[in-house]
Amino acid sequence: MNYEDFFGDALSGLHREGRYRVFTDLERRNGRFPHATHHSPGGQRPVTVWCSNDYLGMGQNPVVLDAMHEALDRCGAGAGGTRNISGTNHYHVLLEQELADLHRKEAALLFTSGYVSNWAALGTLAGKLPGCVVLSDAENHASMIEGIKASRAERHIFRHNDPEDLDRKLRMIDPSRPKLVAFESVYSMDGDIAPIAEICDVAEAHGALTYLDEVHAVGLYGPRGGGISEREGLAHRLDVIEGTLGKAFAVHGGYITGSAKLCDFVRSFASGFIFTTSLPPAVAAGAAASIKHLKASGTERARHQERVAQVRARLDAAGIPYLPNDSHIVPVMVGDPVLCKAISDTLLDEFGIYVQPINYPTVPRGTERLRITPSPLHSDADIDHLVGALSAIWTRMGVEQAAAE
Ligand code: PMP
Repeated sequence: MNYEDFFGDALSGLHREGRYRVFTDLERRNGRFPHATHHSPGGQRPVTVWCSNDYLGMGQNPVVLDAMHEALDRCGAGAGGTRNISGTNHYHVLLEQELADLHRKEAALLFTSGYVSNWAALGTLAGKLPGCVVLSDAENHASMIEGIKASRAERHIFRHNDPEDLDRKLRMIDPSRPKLVAFESVYSMDGDIAPIAEICDVAEAHGALTYLDEVHAVGLYGPRGGGISEREGLAHRLDVIEGTLGKAFAVHGGYITGSAKLCDFVRSFASGFIFTTSLPPAVAAGAAASIKHLKASGTERARHQERVAQVRARLDAAGIPYLPNDSHIVPVMVGDPVLCKAISDTLLDEFGIYVQPINYPTVPRGTERLRITPSPLHSDADIDHLVGALSAIWTRMGVEQAAAE
């Protein structure tokens, strides 16, 4: 086989379909978020970022940076090992306590990323519970899907956010078998929110464990930033709440929280937890500071929601269609991969606005979109600039017509 030809052909296919990924070379500048510097062969220029998952701008918050500097000075750069072999730093222990408290659970367990936390925890739980059957929401994130696949457990997909379909599927399963229901609170691409209470009712009726990914909700919802489960007073009904330290908390890493025994079980059997170097102490310190800050302060959350409402109001006034939802994610639908990329390129090149196009397989074909994520730090002028640019492009490119085809 000619390996190079094979790689080249596969990449040409992506180009042809308009979904070859081009990374935008950004230099985030401390203190200037959401403004950054874009590096390209033509030089460097300022851009406004409208697609960051640093949802609250905590990545540049002095509270977080000070904690990271202090831990770096105290401990040095890396953790020095896996958790089991010299790599459990006191900052990890403090962070796990902080996370357990955030979700009012007995324990928490840190992972290298949110992706790894889902992959390792679901792989381990579903793989080790004898005869386990997994019920997975149709729109679950790739990390959950891969974890469930890795477990080799029997898997059934229930219709997205549909407790009745979940119930139907659970009824067909031998009641004596262990079962696990895996779903998300805020779905990242459509921004819709799961009916958590109803899903818990169904799971409970069938004796199933509940596993909730709150990656796009922690820090952002609930009086202390404990996510949608906290906002709705449902944390106690979830066996596992999983989250990331890389989005609203704006540092890096992932975690699960749950009972002491469940976390100890995953700690003791999950290969993706055991055999990898733990997070740098400064990262753990920064994440703990971010969580602590957002537990005590609702200011960022309130301002965030206000900015999201403002962006929607301005899009409405300009007649630019977006998918309505009850979260902070504003998906402006385009419906064609080539057009979506062209709009994104024009925004960047002509207007200095950065919104990455979202294509298949991240979203289904025909639902390509610009996923806009307002932050508390976007000003009125930033919003005017974005909506003005989109309006100009919409008119020029005839986007509505293409989206309707
Ligand atoms: N779950 C969901 C729903 C996600 O959207 C993502 C990342 N986009 C992850 C998990 C993975 O989190 P992380 O980026 O920390 O790996």
